[in-house]
Amino acid sequence: PVPAPPPIKSSAPSVEDTVARIIAEMGGVKPVVDATAPFAQGCIVTDGMVTKAAGEVNCSCCERSDCALSSAPVSLDISDEDAITLGEGVFATMDEAVEAAAEAQRQYLFCSMAARKSFVDGIREVFLDQAVLERISTMTVQQTGMGNAADKIIKNRLAASKTPGIEDLKTEAESGDGGLTLVEYSAYGVIGSITPTTNPTETIICNSIGMLAAGNAVVFSPHPRAKIVSLLSIKMINRKLAALGAPANLVVTVQAPSIDNTNAMMAHPKVRMLVATGGPAIVKTVMSTGKKAIGAGAGNPPVVVDETADIEKAAKDIVSGCSFDNNLPCIAEKEVIAVSQIADFLISQMQKNGAYLVKDPAVVKKLEELVLTAKGGPQTNCVGKSAVYLLDKVGISVGPEIRVVLIELPKEHPFVQEELMMPILPLVRATDVDEAIDLAVELEHGNRHTAMIHSTDVRKITKMAKLIQTTIFVKNGPSYAGIGVGGEGYTTFTIAGPTGEGLTSPKSFARRRKCVMVEALNVR
Ligand code: NAD
Repeated sequence: PVPAPPPIKSSAPSVEDTVARIIAEMGGVKPVVDATAPFAQGCIVTDGMVTKAAGEVNCSCCERSDCALSSAPVSLDISDEDAITLGEGVFATMDEAVEAAAEAQRQYLFCSMAARKSFVDGIREVFLDQAVLERISTMTVQQTGMGNAADKIIKNRLAASKTPGIEDLKTEAESGDGGLTLVEYSAYGVIGSITPTTNPTETIICNSIGMLAAGNAVVFSPHPRAKIVSLLSIKMINRKLAALGAPANLVVTVQAPSIDNTNAMMAHPKVRMLVATGGPAIVKTVMSTGKKAIGAGAGNPPVVVDETADIEKAAKDIVSGCSFDNNLPCIAEKEVIAVSQIADFLISQMQKNGAYLVKDPAVVKKLEELVLTAKGGPQTNCVGKSAVYLLDKVGISVGPEIRVVLIELPKEHPFVQEELMMPILPLVRATDVDEAIDLAVELEHGNRHTAMIHSTDVRKITKMAKLIQTTIFVKNGPSYAGIGVGGEGYTTFTIAGPTGEGLTSPKSFARRRKCVMVEALNVR
């Protein structure tokens, strides 16, 4: 007969006692959210782990359908004046902003992946609200004097809906006689993100989602010209995150963005990674800091059209891509290289689709004087202006159906060589597709950013893709298909050619870390 088990001694500690003893040894239980906040019960965290007990924890981390925090109504009604006041992620000094973000990130380490997902989804929700989309898009145009609100609504919605979230962070596992090894994507800590005037809110939305999904906190350095709309967006994110029970100050900035503040952010020891989305100067600056840096820099995207293309469609796509947000996107068509055999037909089709052809050398000269600086770069006050506006400035009055100013030019012309970011589209002729591809590679200037081709010859398409090495390569579509408008795939507004990440996503903002369990947990 099997002997009876010994009786359990009544002196054995209960599970509750053991848990209480361990929590006490770890320094007690700390709520992540402010206990005096309207939704007092936050994610309960000890110094080592999230403690989740049904009925006790009542926040977005608990995945309960009746969770008070995840269904919390939040008012995003923040006036322009209130947007630039201190609080809700806006700090007086960069030092205070970084310190607050560092504390937030420390707390964030102990939130569950479900919590992260709910915070990221909360950011999406804020910017998928039509009234918010319309407000920030209109405000951006008013404040920066660049682009058009209708296209900015599309770009902001795209950033909110198609930037990848936590699903991007896939764990790898290897097991064998030596045990089990995991390679996981883990947060950097506090990331400093510098954002451009051309996509101010899109970049804040995209980077907040991607960086928080990877477990980081983020300090933004917006372009001063887009200050109010940037601070407003950051405050709206903070308000939503607070309602969801997130640690306070995961997304922060300063009240007066400036180059000095950006420099202070880059130099702060608690900022572990820098991400610059902007022109060549700021990309070079972050790469020279000695910190891990992601540089998403300038482009000069060429579009090649050969004799095998559907010319009518190519003409339509090129005008649409080039005029999107008045040519502000770094991915937008900046010059056309057309094979001579079809160039005249392409030009005529572009004219049918909203291109105004300028042939008079006197008008070309006036446009040069209007839009170029003495150094040959673009005049800031013409960047992101419409074709109607630019033509009007040189004495030509056209209707709103005109979206692009088309000019045939030699390849040496500054309109061809420079990234103008306005809908002036130069067209250069090439004798054949091979010459067109070589020219496209030359005009892309090694930025490795974006290029397009309209062709049905798969060998030539492949040849161009191999030679040009751009992060985004669109075949037979407008450039914006490359960021997910009418094309498959996720979006990013931080396209990192110079530092090699290419299309950024949460895993770009994470470190690959290895966890090794020796001689165990291999069950094969
Ligand atoms: P910009 O370089 O003038 O400014 C970008 C940001 O850097 C701003 O916040 C600005 O305040 C800051 N900055 C610039 N110089 C600085 C300095 N010396 N010290 C500290 N901070 C500095 O660019 P912009 O006009 O705002 O944006 C347009 C440029 O950005 C274009 O070249 C465009 O191609 C590029 N861009 C690239 C991407 C991409 O994903 N690769 C996306 C958007 C824009």
